[in-house]
Amino acid sequence: MIIDDQHYDVIIIGSGAGGGTLAGSLAGKGHKVLLLERGGQMALADQNVADVDLFRKDRYHPAERWFGPDGDPFAPQTIYGLGGNTKIWGAVLERLREKDFGAVHLQDGISPSWELSYDDYSPYYDRAEALFQVHGKGGVDPTEPKRSQEFAKPPKPLESFLEPLREALQRNGSNPYDLPLSWSDSQEDPSGDAEIYGVAPAVRDAAVQLRTNAKVTRLHVNPAGTEVKAVEADLQGQTWLFSADLVVLAAGSVNTAAILLRSTNDTHPRGLSNGSDQVGRNLMKLQLTSILQLASVPNSGRYARSFGVNDYYWGDKNVSFPLGHIQSCGGVLQDALFAESPPVLSLVSKLMPNFGLEELASRSVAWWAMTEVLPDPHNKVFLQGDQLRINYIANNREAHDRLVYRWIDTLKAVEADPLTHVVRTAPTHPRGEAPISVMGYVCGTCRMGSNPATSVVDLQGKSHEIQNLYLADASVFPSCPSIGPGLTVIANALRLSDHLEQIL
Ligand SMILES: Cc1cc2nc3c(=O)[nH]c(=O)nc-3n(C[C@H](O)[C@H](O)[C@H](O)COP(=O)(O)OP(=O)(O)OC[C@H]3O[C@@H](n4cnc5c(N)ncnc54)[C@H](O)[C@@H]3O)c2cc1C
Repeated sequence: MIIDDQHYDVIIIGSGAGGGTLAGSLAGKGHKVLLLERGGQMALADQNVADVDLFRKDRYHPAERWFGPDGDPFAPQTIYGLGGNTKIWGAVLERLREKDFGAVHLQDGISPSWELSYDDYSPYYDRAEALFQVHGKGGVDPTEPKRSQEFAKPPKPLESFLEPLREALQRNGSNPYDLPLSWSDSQEDPSGDAEIYGVAPAVRDAAVQLRTNAKVTRLHVNPAGTEVKAVEADLQGQTWLFSADLVVLAAGSVNTAAILLRSTNDTHPRGLSNGSDQVGRNLMKLQLTSILQLASVPNSGRYARSFGVNDYYWGDKNVSFPLGHIQSCGGVLQDALFAESPPVLSLVSKLMPNFGLEELASRSVAWWAMTEVLPDPHNKVFLQGDQLRINYIANNREAHDRLVYRWIDTLKAVEADPLTHVVRTAPTHPRGEAPISVMGYVCGTCRMGSNPATSVVDLQGKSHEIQNLYLADASVFPSCPSIGPGLTVIANALRLSDHLEQIL
C-alpha cells in the first residue's frame, strides 16, 4: 500500500457532470484539490462517433458486468473516463420546471418534493448554462420555467429536413421548441461536456491535481466514525491512500452508492452514511422509449438532437397527471442511446427490405418519449460479495404508454397532412424501450433531504453522519423528472461549490 504524502483541501471522486463541474469551479481559488478519476481520457476518435460503428456491441461498455433483477449479468452503457457520461450524452441541458421541485401527483403516486425551490436553483441554472455554452431560445415552450436572462447563444441551424417537420408539427397543434444544447467551439469535439467545461479549466490551476485510472474502492473513517480519514484507490493494481479535509463523492448514482456500501466498518456496519438504510435505494431510471418514423427524403443520420415537445408534460386533454417529454433523437448514427435499441431498426428493415443499416438510418426519423418514475425503496443498488446488483422494476408505466401513444397519434396526423413532404405514412411506428443496460440517465440512490431517517445527505449534499463527506452527482436527486438530469447535476455542483467556499 502506498500512502500519498500530500494532504489536500478537497478530494473529488469522479470527473463527470457533478465532479468535473465542481473541480472546475473550485479551481483558481487557492484550494489544493485532488481529482480522482477511474478512467482515462477518451480518444478523440471515440468521441462524437457518427457512423454505423456506433452499433458495435462493445462501444461504450466498460469491461465490467453488473447483475440485473433476474440475477443475469449485463454490460452497462457507461463511460469511465474524464467527463464521465457527458462524453457520449445528447448534450440537451434542460431546467427542471418550477413544479418539478414540489410534490407532483403522478398516475402511480406522489413524486416527492425536493424541499428546495426552483428559485434556489435558478441562479445556478444561469451559471450552468453559461459555463456549458448552452445554445437555446426561450419563450417558445409553454412549460418553460421563468428565466432571468435569455440564452447567451441562439440555437444552431437544424438539419434541413427538420424545419419542414417542425412546421408540420406546428400545423397539427404541437409546440416544438429548440432543445437547449451544450456546444463547444472545438471543430474536433463540437459537443460540450464536463471534460471541456470542468476538468480542463480545473487542471490549468497548478493547485489541482488529477489522477486518472484511479478507481476509488472505499473510504476509511476515524475510530468514532464521524470523519473520512482516507480515500482508498486502486491505481493500476496498486493500492493508494489519499487524505483531505473534505471528500466529495461524484462517481455517479450507481458507483457512489457502491463505494459507500463497500466502506463498511465497526461504526458503519451497513456502509458509510447508511444509518437510515437508504444508501442504494430509490434508484430511478427515466423511462425512455424510442419511436421511429419513416422519412420520405434521405437525411444524413448524423445530426444533433434538435427539438422537444412538452405538450403532454403535465397531462393531456383526457388526464391531469404528467405524461412526460418528447425529444427528437438526432441522427440515428449519432445517438449512443439509440444504438442500445437495435431491435427498433430491425423492425424498420421489415418495412424497407434490402436496405443496409446506413440506408435505414438515413430513412428514419427517431424520437424519444421520456417519462418520470417514482422513487421506490425496493429499486436499489446493492452488493453481493464482489457483485454489483441492481433490483429494478419500472413504475408509472401506464403514463409512459399514454405518452408513446399520444406521440404516435401526433406523428400519424403529421404524416397524413398533405402539406408535409418529409415523412411518410407507415403501417406501424417501430418502437423500443431502453433496456436495463441503459443506465446513463439514472438518479437517486443517496437522496438528499432534511430528515436523516429518510435521506442520506442534507439539502446541501453533506452526509448526515460523516461531517466531512459530501455528494455531488445525480445520486442526490429526490425525484426523477421527465427531462434529462444533466443541467440540474451541474447546477447542484455549482451550488455545492459555493457552500464549500464558505467552509474552506
Ligand atoms: C448516451 C447518454 C446520453 C445522455 N444524454 C443526456 C442528455 O442529452 N441530457 C441530459 O441531461 N442527460 C443526458 N444523459 C445523462 C447524463 O450524462 C448524466 O445524468 C450525468 O452525466 C450524470 O452526472 P454524474 O456526475 O452523476 O455522473 P457521470 O457524469 O457519469 O460521472 C461519474 C464519474 O465518476 C467516475 N467514477 C465512477 N466510479 C468511480 C470510482 N470508483 N473511482 C473514481 N471515479 C469513478 C466515472 O468514470 C465518471 O467519470 C445521457 C447519458 C448517456 C449515457
